[in-house]
Amino acid sequence: MSTESTHPALTTAPISRALQAQSQLTQTALACSERRLRSLLALSVDWIWEQDAEGRICELSGRLLEDLGLQPELLLGRRIDQLDGFEASEPALHQFRIAAVARRPFRDFDFQVKRPDGRAVHVRGSGEPVFDTQGGLLGYRGVARDVTAEVLAAREANRLARYDALTGLPNRGQFLQELTRAMSRSKRSGHAMAVGFLDLDRFKTVNDTLGHAAGDELLRVMATRLRKAVREVDTVGRLGGDEFALLFEACGDRHNLRRRALALLETLGQPIHLHERSFMVTGSIGLAFFPEDGEDSDTLLMHADAAMYRTKEQGRNGVNFYDASLAARAERQFEIESTLRMGLARGELLLHYQPKVCARSGRLLGLEALLRWNRPGHGLVPPSEFIPLAEERGLILPIGRWVIRQACEQLARWRAQGLSVPPLALNVSAHQFGDPGLLDDLGQAMRLAGLPAGQLELELTESVLMAEPERARRLLRRMAEMGVRIAIDDFGTGYSSLSYLKRFPARTLKIDRSFVRGLPGKGDDAAIVQAVIALAHSLGLAVVAEGVETDAQLQALRGLGCDQVQGYLTGRPMPAAEVAAMLASYDVQPA
Ligand code: C2E
Ligand code: MG
Ligand code: MG
Repeated sequence: MSTESTHPALTTAPISRALQAQSQLTQTALACSERRLRSLLALSVDWIWEQDAEGRICELSGRLLEDLGLQPELLLGRRIDQLDGFEASEPALHQFRIAAVARRPFRDFDFQVKRPDGRAVHVRGSGEPVFDTQGGLLGYRGVARDVTAEVLAAREANRLARYDALTGLPNRGQFLQELTRAMSRSKRSGHAMAVGFLDLDRFKTVNDTLGHAAGDELLRVMATRLRKAVREVDTVGRLGGDEFALLFEACGDRHNLRRRALALLETLGQPIHLHERSFMVTGSIGLAFFPEDGEDSDTLLMHADAAMYRTKEQGRNGVNFYDASLAARAERQFEIESTLRMGLARGELLLHYQPKVCARSGRLLGLEALLRWNRPGHGLVPPSEFIPLAEERGLILPIGRWVIRQACEQLARWRAQGLSVPPLALNVSAHQFGDPGLLDDLGQAMRLAGLPAGQLELELTESVLMAEPERARRLLRRMAEMGVRIAIDDFGTGYSSLSYLKRFPARTLKIDRSFVRGLPGKGDDAAIVQAVIALAHSLGLAVVAEGVETDAQLQALRGLGCDQVQGYLTGRPMPAAEVAAMLASYDVQPA
């Protein structure tokens, strides 16, 4: 069959009919192709739209319209900027208007509109102008996509980069940026501005004792309290760990600022309930003014930090302002560190010994070795002035080893003199306790000195033990096996878990001086001391009260059933020679 004979339009009809049929075919084909195109288009875009020359929507089709609750009837006949909740950024609007005025196509114009339920839909549209045969503008037509998910994801990524994930507060980078902007505002307005550095007190103890989940929860609560406590114009950021930064704009004078910082601390210090326990967590603040204390954001924050350190040293839970003496102090610390290093090598360290006596009989039951530094030109420096620094700078390990050796050698000398020597206690700090070499050092020093079991005792604070309670328990076991006694020092100043306290092979609990100070009396101190003594006895521990200075305190402690006392009343820390004289005359209970 030939083509001619089978095609009706070409073979059997007159020309006009053939032409008509031809045009119908063409139209059908066109319509078909348009449908195909539209359905393909519909796969890649969400909407197809047309606008008239005035910018009113006159055609709108596509999926998602109903899904999103965007009824075409509500949109038709309106310009997009008249739609509910229309919003677009200034630069996007500007680009769009330029294209419209010049009658040029536009691409990727981002805007948002509101759904009837109030939620925003983010839309990205592209379009091109349509002209009549004379070149007059008929309108625009184009496509659009729902980019809500993309926009929200991008916003979230941006937020995560600038805000702390745990607390939602600005992170260090974002805080410094806001600080820089605030500095320019302050320069223009002439209003005083200040930066605060806030560090939570003893946060590490809570974290170590209750676990990281509780620590995180605590940080979140504190962040919320801070945000609520500052004014709308002020900024709170999280610098990391338990450190927060504060930005006080138009903060007034020192007096004003101090009052506000103290109010903030008061809010922070309200009890917090975590894991069925109630806590009070305080904070230490340092403040620096712009521009007096620093002309750039880093310096300001650094100086606020230095001022915060002074607050920590003064006993925490307070406020300090930066001043130039703090810079001088940093220098002084550096000097102390290097002279201490030399002092250790030159033999400037020495031990003093303080008696612990029976609360009833006054018999000597023990000694505590307390470190001193005979610093040339400064006299005897107490440990509070150099131990924290030594801890911080990694000097505590060699110092600690020296103390162990020195104490063991001294014990050996007294024993060689035929003196009956009670147990001697050494203080062990956090870093030392974390040192894997500690057991070896102890074992070796004890062997060299030929000490019997029970002659040496270690004093460890609650926070040191609770930092890693399981590890502490294992280590204490091994120490106990070596014949080393264990005492828990400064009890009451940290957080102890009673279940662990029971599992530590400790023999003694030392009640911190701060509770003894309030004795005798009807206040909290007496109640606390009484409770601690009852607790210790129920766990089979002997109780030593620290810092007993008056006879009245001694009587009160006796009344409360305290076993031993240590303090200026019964003997100050003294050099080894004086101890020898005392041992020769005193009624001693040997180790
Ligand atoms: P600590 O172990 O609680 O020692 C008791 C502190 O109280 C000693 O201070 C002692 O002199 C003082 N003290 C004793 N009785 C009284 C009193 O009646 N009234 C008053 N106000 N104070 C009294 P010191 O010698 O200045 O030692 C302070 C801290 O330094 C010690 O507290 C201990 O934590 C640490 N330390 C001392 N020697 C060493 C050491 O060799 N190594 C380590 N890592 N730390 C040490
Ligand atoms: Mg001690
Ligand atoms: Mg103590």
